[in-house]
Amino acid sequence: MRLLGVLGGMSWTSTETYYRLLNEGVAARLGGLHSARLLVHSVEFEEVARLQHAGDWAGTEAILADAARGLRDGGAEALVLATNTMHKVADGIEAATGLPLLHIADPTAAAITAAGLDRVGLLATAFTMEQDFYIARLRAAGIECLVPDAAGRAEVHRIIYDELCHDVVTETSREAYRRVIGQLIDRGAQAIVLGCTEIDLLVSARDSAVPLFDTTSLHVAASVDWLLADPPAVGSGS
Ligand code: GLU
Repeated sequence: MRLLGVLGGMSWTSTETYYRLLNEGVAARLGGLHSARLLVHSVEFEEVARLQHAGDWAGTEAILADAARGLRDGGAEALVLATNTMHKVADGIEAATGLPLLHIADPTAAAITAAGLDRVGLLATAFTMEQDFYIARLRAAGIECLVPDAAGRAEVHRIIYDELCHDVVTETSREAYRRVIGQLIDRGAQAIVLGCTEIDLLVSARDSAVPLFDTTSLHVAASVDWLLADPPAVGSGS
């Protein structure tokens, strides 16, 4: 099996989900005691989040590029960045390591397209909803993103950082997400993208009248495919 490097800790509550789903995915495919070959670097999220909120993306990139080089030097052959938001600096991490990075938006776009849909509502951090790095990648795949209004975006963002990243799940917040989902559907969303890797802790299919596309599980499924793809031929030097 190939060896995958996971950049995690953003937050740890979603990295825990990645770790479980990656292992369950490999076991489901191979059976027995098979499990995922992983190197995980879990960062100190307080530091990363402070830089995000200060707009110091170069600072976040430096931390993640450094961690990614460690994963590469430990033998990882590809990288997974276990957060949507930090894909803002995905290109820089790839450039710093020379390793392929399995971009979270790509399996998400593929699943939406395979379902015959092209207009989705996006729930994510304010960075992901309000900047173009993520929405542009979906747009390039032919998918239009609707985002909540300003009050909705602020509430969705607050619940991610103040609650879900602390493993706090409340019925009040679930109701707030249901309301925002309903507004996006009223504006024409054919589906909802859970574009933050913690939202699956709070929201499930029963909270939405349209299909949900959960980036965590789609990213994991693509990662399992990569882990189990044919290894390089013996003697290829890698
Ligand atoms: N895990 C979240 C995401 O998928 C938010 C935390 C972060 O900023 O990395 O965007």
